[in-house]
Amino acid sequence: MANENNNFSEIIAHCKEYGYIFPSSEIYDGLSAVYDYGQNGVQLKKNIRDYWWKSMTQLHENIVGIDAAIFMHPLTWKASGHIDNFSDPMIDNKDSQKRYRVDHLIESHAEILAHEGKKEEEFALLKAMEELLAKDDFEGLKKLIEDNKIKCAVSGTCNWTDVRQFNLMFDTQLGSVAGEADKIYLRPETAQGIFVNFLNVQKTGRMKIPFGIAQTGKAFRNEIVARQFIFRMREFEQMEMQFFVKPGTEMQWYNYWKTERLKWHESLGIPAEKLRYHDHVKLAHYANAAVDIEFEFPFGFKELEGIHSRTDFDLKQHQELSKKKLQYFDNELKEDGKPVGNYIPYVVETSVGLDRLFLTVISMSYAEEKWKKEDGTEDSRVVLKIPAKIAPYKLAILPLIKKDGLPEIAKNLMNECKQSFYTFYEEKDSIGKRYRRMDAIGTPFCVTIDHQTKEDNTVTIRYRDTMIQERILLADVKNLVTKKIS
Ligand code: ATP
Repeated sequence: MANENNNFSEIIAHCKEYGYIFPSSEIYDGLSAVYDYGQNGVQLKKNIRDYWWKSMTQLHENIVGIDAAIFMHPLTWKASGHIDNFSDPMIDNKDSQKRYRVDHLIESHAEILAHEGKKEEEFALLKAMEELLAKDDFEGLKKLIEDNKIKCAVSGTCNWTDVRQFNLMFDTQLGSVAGEADKIYLRPETAQGIFVNFLNVQKTGRMKIPFGIAQTGKAFRNEIVARQFIFRMREFEQMEMQFFVKPGTEMQWYNYWKTERLKWHESLGIPAEKLRYHDHVKLAHYANAAVDIEFEFPFGFKELEGIHSRTDFDLKQHQELSKKKLQYFDNELKEDGKPVGNYIPYVVETSVGLDRLFLTVISMSYAEEKWKKEDGTEDSRVVLKIPAKIAPYKLAILPLIKKDGLPEIAKNLMNECKQSFYTFYEEKDSIGKRYRRMDAIGTPFCVTIDHQTKEDNTVTIRYRDTMIQERILLADVKNLVTKKIS
């Protein structure tokens, strides 16, 4: 990467060292672009997922959730267009045999141009690429690569194959007899589980348009080039919501969700200046408008969430292939006093990758800090300033020493708090070392129980972000933390 002059490799190492993310099956040297979440990672991931779920379902009375299976009838993917269209143009370097996604190859070159200060050339290249991609002009894309003398990072040559399409779906067999007829797919998006259940939910939930169905779950894509840690994985988790609306009102809802979703990311604690919109030039086969919300990752602004106006494409397709009506009866009265009647709703989709959001939170939270102490010597720390409401542990409870009744007071406090939020108990090492460990895993509050606690029932509370310490009543700890994390 051209501009990886940041702390991305430190962030990846930190995630492993502090139990956030491990390479999958690491003892066998890992599996490319597949990762496991460790003891702290799983908790942060759950908290982010819960925050999304609550804001979508609990806070919107017209949005409900479902949990559809990963395996679906194979015709689902014919109807959705994934069998025919879910592919990326790719190109191979004949000398190194290395395969590239065409857009990634060109974007990497654009980054090099940007790095060299050649802004105009960078923009011209990206504009030409977007136009050629929009027209599926594969010959033109190859020519663009050759004209710009874009080289393979491994062989260093410009000896390229033609540009071809590569389908991203994983397939497997259902049952014990293998054959083309039993081929099923690992879902490449969660959305189709929502579409095929549209009428089930609408009828059993007596939902009235406009309404939404939300879902979180695993999706699988055989990405040609999986890279940048958990940014692009082959197995990942999506949080999607399909909002069903009356035809003709879709642009109004598209704009509504576009604004709402940006606000939501800010409410999670993501700084506004690190977020931006990117409107699509090339629209997917199902969309009549699409925008990405991008975040400034350590390797540049990249897609975090997609908002798409999907028209009635999916429901219409499912209706055609399943031969089951997927219509909504709108009994709202028109001006002539008659009900609006049957129609296939239009859909606005919001789709965010949970793993990408996780990487967003870690990237914005990671900080290496240095400062001068009162005695003039230098001190430093690595801290994860994860917003308190989604941090894995909320409170560390630390008895100053392992005796004199201090652990007992600490454990009582832990028992009082653990019904309400996650606590971490630790009695080994100096207080300074314990604070540093809690900084590194991102625990927002530490409470130290010392001898004075026995005399006046006060404790020292230390705030992670400012490192300020103050004495408060032991009895007030639970309430204070509860308030700060809500
Ligand atoms: P990209 O252009 O980065 O490949 P996309 O436009 O194909 O993404 P969508 O199909 O819109 O992505 O999927 C919605 C969201 O799912 C994305 O915004 C992203 O957060 C997440 N996502 C998609 N592919 C991956 C992946 N391979 N690994 C992790 N998250 C992903």
